[in-house]
Amino acid sequence: ESSFNEIRQFSGDVSHELKTPLTVIRGEIEIALRGKRDAEEYRRTLESVLEEAGKLTNIIEDLLLLSRIDTLGRSITMREVELDSVVMAAYEDSMTFLSGKKLNISIRRLDETRVTGEPGLLKRAFVNLLHNAIKYTPDGGSVEIELFPGDAAGEAEHKGPCFKIRDSGIGIPQRHLSYIFNRFYRVSTSRSSKDGGKGLGLTIVKRILDLHGARIRVESRKGQGTVFYVFFP
Ligand code: ADP
Repeated sequence: ESSFNEIRQFSGDVSHELKTPLTVIRGEIEIALRGKRDAEEYRRTLESVLEEAGKLTNIIEDLLLLSRIDTLGRSITMREVELDSVVMAAYEDSMTFLSGKKLNISIRRLDETRVTGEPGLLKRAFVNLLHNAIKYTPDGGSVEIELFPGDAAGEAEHKGPCFKIRDSGIGIPQRHLSYIFNRFYRVSTSRSSKDGGKGLGLTIVKRILDLHGARIRVESRKGQGTVFYVFFP
């Protein structure tokens, strides 16, 4: 019964999320068709339609990735991965995501660290965490990354490798913290919708980490910033 409920809930959520951009697209086109417009107005309509179509593509790609993780999960080939190279690659990729934003992004520590895993998926998890740190930190803020292997972890309750990302951004109010990994969960629709955030980024992170037997912990204070810790076995 809970599986059926889950599927029903999922279909409802997906329909709702896909419907919003489609409603905007239809509205824009209907207005444009209502009378004769000049070239500039048509251009604006097309730009807006393109933007909404982009959001649809992003949602669908994220859902496809989630379903791929779920279905292929158990058969994905795990191998020894140099996690520091993966973190570096995710960091370099994320620089393009900055697009003019003025943040101080630094790698404070990047020790040689090996884990068993799938490098493509792990990179995706780090990229998602980095994108969030960038998205939710205003200009002038900072983002710091650390990676260290087990013997230097410094975390009393954990002995394995640890990835840590700290930002000085808007933070997450305490009452939301236990829900942020849920599918389509957004702390506030207004604060992330302009970036096209659909509340799937952390769901993907969590599923990828589950697959690796890794654990994620978040500490955050509204207005002060957020720290995500990823503990590998
Ligand atoms: P989204 O695509 O909306 O960013 P995520 O699943 O990646 O979705 O994150 C869920 C919610 O958690 C976001 O809507 C945002 O409100 C909050 N969040 C995630 N990371 C951060 C962060 N580093 N700082 C502040 N809020 C964050």
